[in-house]
Amino acid sequence: MREGTRQGVLQSVPRRSVIKLKINVTPNFTTMVTGHGNIESYLHKYKILDNPMCSCKSGEQTVDHILFDCKLLEQERDSLKAKILRTENCPVSKNKCNKI
Ligand SMILES: [Zn+2]
Repeated sequence: MREGTRQGVLQSVPRRSVIKLKINVTPNFTTMVTGHGNIESYLHKYKILDNPMCSCKSGEQTVDHILFDCKLLEQERDSLKAKILRTENCPVSKNKCNKI
């Protein structure tokens, strides 16, 4: 398991029932958790698109790319990290969050 991957982060989160998170399960949320949905790499895998590349041109648009690497989402990623670091009972440790 690689540090800074979607699976690595999800495996470090205690069971949702234990931490009692209220999660609004939207199609985008489901795509981010499962990797199945409206992302270029998934659509390319099923031959719906010719190219799996992200519009930022720095890699394939996978869930991990969107969450950790996409240059077009840096501002949103930084905003989310700042919000997580201000939360007292965050399910992901602040140390782990800073490594992302
Ligand atoms: Zn990108």
